[in-house]
Amino acid sequence: MSSIHELSFLKEKIQELKNDGVYRKLPVLEGANESEVTLNGKRVINLSSNNYLGFASHPRLKKAAIEAVEKYGVGAGAVRTIIGNMDIHEDMEKLLAEFKREEAVMVFQSGFNCNAGTIQAVTEKGDLIISDELNHASIIDGARLSRADKTVFKHADMNHLEEVLKEKRDNYRNVLIITDGVFSMDGDIAPLPDIVKLAEKYGAMTYVDDAHGSGVLGESGRGTVDHFGLHGRVDFTIGTLSKAIGVIGGYVAGSETMRDWLSHRGRPLLFSTSLPPAAVGSIMEAVRILMSTTEYTDKLWDNAKYFKEKISKLGFDIGKSETPITPVIIGEEAKTMEFSKKLFDKGVFVSGIVFPTVPKGTGRVRCMVTAGHTKEQLDRAVEVFKKVGEDMRIL
Ligand code: PMP
Repeated sequence: MSSIHELSFLKEKIQELKNDGVYRKLPVLEGANESEVTLNGKRVINLSSNNYLGFASHPRLKKAAIEAVEKYGVGAGAVRTIIGNMDIHEDMEKLLAEFKREEAVMVFQSGFNCNAGTIQAVTEKGDLIISDELNHASIIDGARLSRADKTVFKHADMNHLEEVLKEKRDNYRNVLIITDGVFSMDGDIAPLPDIVKLAEKYGAMTYVDDAHGSGVLGESGRGTVDHFGLHGRVDFTIGTLSKAIGVIGGYVAGSETMRDWLSHRGRPLLFSTSLPPAAVGSIMEAVRILMSTTEYTDKLWDNAKYFKEKISKLGFDIGKSETPITPVIIGEEAKTMEFSKKLFDKGVFVSGIVFPTVPKGTGRVRCMVTAGHTKEQLDRAVEVFKKVGEDMRIL
């Protein structure tokens, strides 16, 4: 028998990935995450980042980060419940609550942490979590950490959700319906008004993970709840600070009671150090920009429409995307990865997404259009898609 340190059981699994054609090394980015970047030593158009508004290297955010470092240092030094809760953390949450038009906000160190910490804190044994089958991995993991029972409903299928509620509601104390606001692999928007109506009819709570709706949908990026005019009717709205906001972190917006409870039982807040001051400073500047102008969200949508129209016209299948997330569905796993590699060789970076992130046979390259792209960059990218699509006989 080999020594455990050789990790031969993992080497075998890695070989399986290679056999399936889905093995890869982590790509290395040289410099900031912008619309055109140097990746693995090659200059490419970047169609793979969540930096929707181009804020990750925005001069005002960088300046705000530097100012926060000068005043507060580089680290918070403790978890929030001990001495890591600085006045800027509180100010950031008040500003986010104002932006989201909610009573209160609690910020976590990431969107992933926020889901992991919040779901388990607001549910317990005797409760039921009902989750859309395509919800993000951090929701699935958050639900796993909860002692509540769990079940899924078919993606965005309101008949199925109602069936589940009818059958199970009365067997539980609290029921929590969880959905992504915007689904990250397909770019479709959850039927939130219908979900809220069903929740109200059956006395369930609602939880929306708006990681890809925040900074994208609604007035100046206020999110999916704002997009549908559902303020005050969703119990928990999650947003990330790592995508459109361009920095790092995640938050849950809702009531003061929710925030109060999470400050006692949101485990990532109790056991993991709070966001560094630089991040907090730049997050606040990002929110101030969004509250003062729609320039960035307007540009994002203009670019997204422009690109999607051109890609569709070529004959590619972009599924049911309603947002800047533009999946170009290829199908088979190895073919998807080959398509992505050929795009890269010709100067466009779009990562291939395959099983287990998406169902088998629905491999896709997922294009993320941002406000930072120029029309010229998008035109060049479309040309490359056309050439590779023809070469591989996809078009
Ligand atoms: N929820 C969804 C729907 C996401 O797409 C992501 C990011 N991939 C997260 C949560 C996690 O956010 P973060 O990267 O801030 O941890």
